[in-house]
Amino acid sequence: MADTRPLWMLVREAFEVTEHYAPEPPLRDKLVGIALDYADAKNAAARAEVERLTKERDEATATVELVNSNNLTLAAELAGWKQAARQMEAERDEARAALEAYGREKVREGMRWAAEIIRGCCPECQGTGVRDSGGAQPWGEPITVPCDCADAILAGMETIV
Ligand SMILES: [Zn+2]
Repeated sequence: MADTRPLWMLVREAFEVTEHYAPEPPLRDKLVGIALDYADAKNAAARAEVERLTKERDEATATVELVNSNNLTLAAELAGWKQAARQMEAERDEARAALEAYGREKVREGMRWAAEIIRGCCPECQGTGVRDSGGAQPWGEPITVPCDCADAILAGMETIV
């Protein structure tokens, strides 16, 4: 099991042991050397641990940066797709509106033709647009009034298309 006591405590103990058991310099120096080697080993282990943690932190930072950059790319792609979808929707709506306008114009055209044909069959004016009012001028000429057959058809058409 690793010794977790603070370094200063180990060094102090080493000196106490040295003074108690080894008053002679050679042995005392040897014991101090052992304590200092122990401190060096601990420092080396601590440095290695710091290096390992630094490397891990750098790797984690790189990963986070990569993820962020991927997220930005994905977000940009998504925004592009959304923009394209909006444009396609607008184009579809435009095409639909154009088709509808074209259809309505065709229907109007057909109804105008129908109105002309129907007017030709009008029992009141026979397509002349004027009908007999039933009255007559003092000099005998019959009084005519405009026939509303075509107007009625066109007015009805406007309410439909
Ligand atoms: Zn008529």
